[in-house]
Amino acid sequence: MDTFADEFRAGLIRKIGVRISAKQDALLKAEQEVAKLRTEYEQLQKTETRLNSEECPPLVCPSCFYERHTSSPLRAIPFRTENVDLFECKTCEHQWQQPE
Ligand SMILES: [Zn+2]
Repeated sequence: MDTFADEFRAGLIRKIGVRISAKQDALLKAEQEVAKLRTEYEQLQKTETRLNSEECPPLVCPSCFYERHTSSPLRAIPFRTENVDLFECKTCEHQWQQPE
């Protein structure tokens, strides 16, 4: 003869696998988000360190140097107007205008 405890146990056994699976999925998703945030955080720290300790060399893309931690050379873009020196990054294609 089943007791209420037996019925409860049997019901819980039927549901527990679904609940465990849902929690595993949630944990995996949270761990992936934490890993992503940790990577972004470490990149920002690296960028801050470089901003405070190094100067970008001449004719190197400042965006790649400070934000991507690489040294990508700039190439001169032929004059479209006189008095303006334009450069383009070979990697990110950002265009830079020499300040006057
Ligand atoms: Zn660049």
